[in-house]
Amino acid sequence: MVSRRKRKVPAHKGKCSLRSGGWILLGVFCGLVLVLALFFSSRGGRPPFDEARSFEHILHQCSFGPRIPGTKAHRDCLEYITKELGRYATQITHHNFIHMSYALNKEVTGTNIWARLKGSQAKESILLCAHWDSRPFADRDPSPANRGKGVPGANDGASGVALLLEVARILGCKPPTREVHIILFDMEDMGDLPPNALHKDPFCIGSTRFVQDNPDFRPSWGILVDMVGKRGLRIKKEAISVSWAPHLVHRIWTIALKKGSTVFSEEVGQPIFDDHVPFLQRGIPVVNLIDMDYPYWHTAEDTPDKCSPKSLREVAEVILEVIYGP
Ligand SMILES: [Zn+2]
Repeated sequence: MVSRRKRKVPAHKGKCSLRSGGWILLGVFCGLVLVLALFFSSRGGRPPFDEARSFEHILHQCSFGPRIPGTKAHRDCLEYITKELGRYATQITHHNFIHMSYALNKEVTGTNIWARLKGSQAKESILLCAHWDSRPFADRDPSPANRGKGVPGANDGASGVALLLEVARILGCKPPTREVHIILFDMEDMGDLPPNALHKDPFCIGSTRFVQDNPDFRPSWGILVDMVGKRGLRIKKEAISVSWAPHLVHRIWTIALKKGSTVFSEEVGQPIFDDHVPFLQRGIPVVNLIDMDYPYWHTAEDTPDKCSPKSLREVAEVILEVIYGP
């Protein structure tokens, strides 16, 4: 019986089935390698953007409280961001400046955080930027009792920083050909907004001072991210960027379209005076990626629960494609 059964199953068949099992395993392995290779090559060999890790940076910044110049929360956050960027930057500098604030009724020290990340070739230098301060007063809050309080700034402030901290990690892991400067500006959000004429501070104090104090800093182009964390994010083409940096707007939106992004809208939005303007005035094309359609803007409700990790990733993946692209 045993020998007959053996005869029924030719010896080579057993070997063959073993061999085909091996081939299947090898095939699966090769397929996996191919998928991984395609996965990484489609990203220029860089690791993917970790949206959860990025979102953590929003939570961490907000845990300090509103990052208002002259407060402990501001100092603690400065230390945190500097430490995080320091992991990946080849050089990190604090650009300090003093401002007499009408809103705070005192002289305060502002700090722009400037990180340089070396490129693999000396191709060109580019700028990525956001603001890291939070507005000292929630002057658009529906409740008058909240209007004197600082804005938590989860979306307005922390989201741009959170996105760029995770981008810095990727750039550190796999340097692009370009040199990247990441600058996080202070005192963007202290300005006066009509009709609530409360004081006489301008907006974008940190970026204005940075451009004044660093006349030789001339990156080829740049991207500003501000309020990019909102759930259901939709970024229209900001009107000042469209007028002053049309080619870069076109480049960003072409990539977004190619990637099938649902976040980037073809519509042209309102002009927004933001940290890109001092650079544009110097002739450096910087595009502002911003979604102003945010009901919690400048209110006490600008908290992390209004933000989404997915929004950060969708914007960042387009920015990374621009940086690593030709
Ligand atoms: Zn703001």
